[in-house]
Amino acid sequence: MTLDVSRALQQPGEQFPFSVAMADAEKNGETDRFPDEVDVRGVRADGIFVGGGDTVFVRGRARAEVLSKCARCLADVTKTIETPVHEVYGTDADPDDPERRRLEGYEVDLTDAVYSALALSLPIRFLCREDCKGLCTVCGADLNEGPCGHESDA
Ligand SMILES: [Zn+2]
Ligand SMILES: [Zn+2]
Repeated sequence: MTLDVSRALQQPGEQFPFSVAMADAEKNGETDRFPDEVDVRGVRADGIFVGGGDTVFVRGRARAEVLSKCARCLADVTKTIETPVHEVYGTDADPDDPERRRLEGYEVDLTDAVYSALALSLPIRFLCREDCKGLCTVCGADLNEGPCGHESDA
């Protein structure tokens, strides 16, 4: 997903709002960033960009719907994650400098910035609810639906 920042380069200091929708992680070829059982959809980014000389600053937020399985009972879990995206793009950026991304012509590519921010903000594990009782280790029953008779052994 690229952003046309030509206006910002022509009008330094002025803030330009943006709001973009991105393809799902799978369509974008970004699945390597996420665990296999995690599906990332409905990716959006919005915020502002400001130009100054040959540099563009992007300040915004990335948001996505994340589908996964409960770590305890394996039920489907959907969560919305939201994370800040603060990036600096420059025409003189060193490709090896992760703090400063490359500005190509009049466009900045937000894809990497947005997906890496989302990957970093993933919860360590997904739970369908905080007090999920999980599955019985003996018979595999979903203990959220009631006792199966094995819990006294635990
Ligand atoms: Zn659960
Ligand atoms: Zn049981």
